[in-house]
Amino acid sequence: MHTVEVPIKDAKNPPKIIFPDRCVNCGKPKHVVMPMKLIMGVEKRGQGVLMDFPVPLCAECEKKEQRITYVTLVPFLIAGLVLGVIAFIPAMLIAPEGTSQQTLGFPFVFGGLVGMVVGAIGGTVVEFVLKLLLAPVYGQLLLKRPLTILSFFNDSENVIGLSARFTDKKKSLKLIFENDVIGKEFKQLNL
Ligand SMILES: [Zn+2]
Repeated sequence: MHTVEVPIKDAKNPPKIIFPDRCVNCGKPKHVVMPMKLIMGVEKRGQGVLMDFPVPLCAECEKKEQRITYVTLVPFLIAGLVLGVIAFIPAMLIAPEGTSQQTLGFPFVFGGLVGMVVGAIGGTVVEFVLKLLLAPVYGQLLLKRPLTILSFFNDSENVIGLSARFTDKKKSLKLIFENDVIGKEFKQLNL
């Protein structure tokens, strides 16, 4: 793995970064460019500024990238749903029955809450274990991807072979390349 940090001097005008013109993961000829965007958190002429860095991928790695959804988001959702439903039923049954009009629905609410918490935790555990098992196939950077549950708060972009995130206060963009050769070439192009 190879890490490169590209300094960002002006958040309103983030640097244009250039990738070697071949697959970022394996170095084969470029087939597509994956759009990658990170929010700079500042505005220019009333519009939010984005740091834009399209990443080249070969056909094979593009397919792999698409399949990664099936080992992260999909298992999280399915396991979460199944475990949530399983937890919902006993939780609803053991919840004290409401006596007044206001508390009549309590077992249902309680069951739903327990189901949601168990589903979120269970789904995350399943996703985490799957990532560990599949890292040899999809690359070690798979482990650096935020878990689905955290991805809503996370300001990083990930694609097969590459992980990009801002450093503290967005003073620079830190890129981690799975492929050392591409990482070194990228460094020469950008620093
Ligand atoms: Zn490739």
